[in-house]
Amino acid sequence: MTLHCHKLGAGLPPILRSLTADLLAQQSTQLFDWVARYGSPLNLIWPEVLQENLTALKGVLTEHRVEHALYYGAKINKSPGLIGVALRTGAGIDVSSLYELRDARQLGANGLKLVATGPAKTDIFLKELIACNALISVDSPEELEDLINCLSPETSPQPVLLRVRPTNQGNSRFGMPAEAVIQCLTRIAQENRLHFSGLHFHLNGYRWEDRAAALREAAALVAEARRMGFSPSMIDIGGGLPIQYVDQQHYQAYLASQTSDDYRTGKVPGSFYPYGSVLSAKDWLRRLLQAETGDGRAIADYFAREGLILGMEPGRALADQAAITAFRITRVKALDQNTHVIFVEGSSFSACETWFASEFLVDPILIPTARAPSLSPPIRAYLAGHSCLDDDVLSNRWLTFPITPQAGDLLVYANTAGYQMDLLENEFHRHPMPARLRVMRSSEGQITLSPDTIEEV
Ligand SMILES: *Cc1c(COP(=O)(O)O)cnc(C)c1O
Repeated sequence: MTLHCHKLGAGLPPILRSLTADLLAQQSTQLFDWVARYGSPLNLIWPEVLQENLTALKGVLTEHRVEHALYYGAKINKSPGLIGVALRTGAGIDVSSLYELRDARQLGANGLKLVATGPAKTDIFLKELIACNALISVDSPEELEDLINCLSPETSPQPVLLRVRPTNQGNSRFGMPAEAVIQCLTRIAQENRLHFSGLHFHLNGYRWEDRAAALREAAALVAEARRMGFSPSMIDIGGGLPIQYVDQQHYQAYLASQTSDDYRTGKVPGSFYPYGSVLSAKDWLRRLLQAETGDGRAIADYFAREGLILGMEPGRALADQAAITAFRITRVKALDQNTHVIFVEGSSFSACETWFASEFLVDPILIPTARAPSLSPPIRAYLAGHSCLDDDVLSNRWLTFPITPQAGDLLVYANTAGYQMDLLENEFHRHPMPARLRVMRSSEGQITLSPDTIEEV
């Protein structure tokens, strides 16, 4: 039995792929066994889902005849399995730390399959990138100087992108304004150990319109670079493609109806991820490719006519439906006559949206232990972790549980692979790190778990 816990009349049930829905509905005994064995919270992952998500995006690019290079933004999840599947599907990896780089290398990525982003690369990171001739996105003139200082005297030309800070991102600390890009180009022109491959940006937010505007600015800089004698081959537009976590109509209805009383903090958070995106990642990409550049051509035509490769680094969108997180309930405590707090074994570091002053607007699924059907009434509760921090709250949003949950029941959050499950995980109170296990299905339909480690991938 699976039950949704929601605000009455304004539910946000997660969109689930059928395999996950079946696991929750029909194989819950197995789920209880796994949590008993591996602990709570338990992160279950299906890395091969990334292949479907990647193939869908590649299909749109091919349909529009756009030469492309897709790099999986590896920071969204610690799973080596996801990196392995991305590489096996022919994608590259966007690495933004020495350790992401080493994992990707160990899983078989060569320099051609790597782009390095991030604003503050250390010398040791730069040197390892140079050693494998990975594409490096340079964030600032200062970083360019550091990179040049890391080059050995007779190195083969090191490919670089220059990260643009588009005018609609004026407050961002990432990337550089047009003048600084030109300044870097002038510097690169004096340095034959560098090769200018093109431009890069990655924007805050999830609007394709903002990417279209940024592309127009990048196109002007590509033209300027050509006038300076360069032959750029790529514009990399970063990530930020949407995931549809919940149905868009449910989502709009929820947003329209929410009030400060829906949160135990008495405040509606200032911003949310667009959990009920109108567009799928595929449709988002279509809109972008069909949007106009300044001269009336579609963006897709611009890339074809200029002979440019469209680079992209989707992170979250590639892990859509790739993982769930199961928490075991430890205690249900009445706060007063109408409200409860439900403590789970685990912490909000494993479902971490509240730490960003926001909320995961996706309803958890209650899986009760097998017990005699009781007439337990619905209760209203918020969800807290097991630590002693007052802020250790998984859901400030009041949830109505259709029956009174009990210790030992499971609460499952869907679609946690992108930034949710492991971004903030730690060993606070010396609790061991949550387990992440790969769900495998044998040809006879038998479901088993296997470790999601570099060695196993
Ligand atoms: C985080 C990041 C991405 C991935 O962003 P998503 O929103 O997860 O798609 C891509 N590029 C850069 C430079 C990033 O920092």
